[in-house]
Amino acid sequence: MSLLVIGSVAFDAIDTPFGSTGKIVGGAASYIALATSLLYDRVGLVAVVGEDFDFEFIETLKSRGVDTSGLQVKQGEKSFFWHGKYHMDMNSRDTLVTELNVLGTFDPLIPEHLRKPDYVMLGNLSPEVQIKTLERLEHRPKLVMMDTMNFWMDIALPQLQQVLKMVDVLTINDEEARQLSGEHSLVKAARIIQAMGPSTVIIKKGEHGALLFGEGQIFFCPALPLEDVFDPTGAGDTFAGGFAGYIASTGSTSFEAMKKGILFGSCLASFCVEKFGTERIAGITMEDVNTRLKEFHKLIHLD
Ligand code: AMP
Repeated sequence: MSLLVIGSVAFDAIDTPFGSTGKIVGGAASYIALATSLLYDRVGLVAVVGEDFDFEFIETLKSRGVDTSGLQVKQGEKSFFWHGKYHMDMNSRDTLVTELNVLGTFDPLIPEHLRKPDYVMLGNLSPEVQIKTLERLEHRPKLVMMDTMNFWMDIALPQLQQVLKMVDVLTINDEEARQLSGEHSLVKAARIIQAMGPSTVIIKKGEHGALLFGEGQIFFCPALPLEDVFDPTGAGDTFAGGFAGYIASTGSTSFEAMKKGILFGSCLASFCVEKFGTERIAGITMEDVNTRLKEFHKLIHLD
């Protein structure tokens, strides 16, 4: 069994009401790989960076057991760069800069030994690259999970609709679910998105938790109430990685397993926001995760 992760590995710059970072490591697949590799030990990464990237971060991924042989390094080119600015409430943000750089011409070359994964997590990337990735696999994985964002709805909607037909689970935030479905009610939005392809839709609502929509079933998991949120960047990807890592570790794709999956996703995302960038999620252990799961249990348990 194995889990293939694809997505952006990038530089970010983040402005929050509490401070700004310079260029730091970010990218959807960076957060996903850090989260999945805590819960599951057969994770492979396919991504691209420029020669300017911080390669110490790749060593961190390797030390967590991530197979990085599918990471391409483009000499003479720059890594993907994203600059975001959070509003006072820390729930909403504006994208100030998106420089695709190496992502603009990314051809996802998958090493032979990674072409038969049981699980795939398509992180935020151009839908065209997400489709190519699935087409290059040697068999249909047991479960294909995918994340996306408004950027791709704005510039590549037909391709996004095409990849949606190929996936089983979509993780998406509330604002984006509304944009994609054209429906304000999240229950109706989920139903409309399910009709576009994925039988399971997970709507992430930031500090207000996450909703899981299966076939005829709904489940809700709160986010852990935290006194301080420093940087929500990557929380959605960390959530998706926690979900994917849990599902891969159990081998079950039942609704019951997915309920626990969103609990693990929420748990890992609660760490992510405690420091800027990937720092916190890169520094935790399974012991930290288990301690925090107990807090979740207290939060949601009724006799
Ligand atoms: P999240 O906060 O979970 O929505 O994810 C933030 C991460 O997404 C950042 O680390 C960015 O590098 C990455 N990102 C932002 N825009 C894009 C994009 N258009 N394509 C791929 N990754 C992106």
